[in-house]
Amino acid sequence: MLEPTDKWLCELVEPKHPALHTPATIDPFTAPKDANWAQREVDMFKLMHDRLGIGLASPQIGNSYNMFVMTLKGSGDVGVYNPKILEVSEETINMEEGCLTFPFLYFHVVRPEKCKVSYTLYDGKTEVEGWLDGIDARCFQHEYEHLQGKLFLEHASDLKLQRAMKKREKYFKEIEKVRR
Ligand code: ZN
Repeated sequence: MLEPTDKWLCELVEPKHPALHTPATIDPFTAPKDANWAQREVDMFKLMHDRLGIGLASPQIGNSYNMFVMTLKGSGDVGVYNPKILEVSEETINMEEGCLTFPFLYFHVVRPEKCKVSYTLYDGKTEVEGWLDGIDARCFQHEYEHLQGKLFLEHASDLKLQRAMKKREKYFKEIEKVRR
């Protein structure tokens, strides 16, 4: 387990960083006790929006707090603390997915279409519980996996991943051409 940190550096870490491969089990409200989560959320939302993401989990910025931020379709930006997935629908859906840790890498992943979740807000007290669907359910499950030390790459076969990587390289080359 990574240690809690007082230093708050809100920047994306490399895919090999241990935080991305370790369960994020530190309760945000116990260590350090005086962490200003309202302010930390602001930093995380800024990074997430700058990179055009809709979710960002604590391990992606190199620490192991059990929290992530995401944008909910209806209600906007929310900080999600000590989340749980209580139930998932039997119906699954195959949707294209990306991750800020792997910019411009996209492939389809099959996941439950809906999920019933619970979490608290940044005050550590306000409890939220309910069903999510569509892109909200998708994003919540993706970020939740980050907190288990898992990456969405695990959902792709070698072949699928190779194809997605090739597409990404092509995209980067085209970007370079435009820049020249
Ligand atoms: Zn991700």
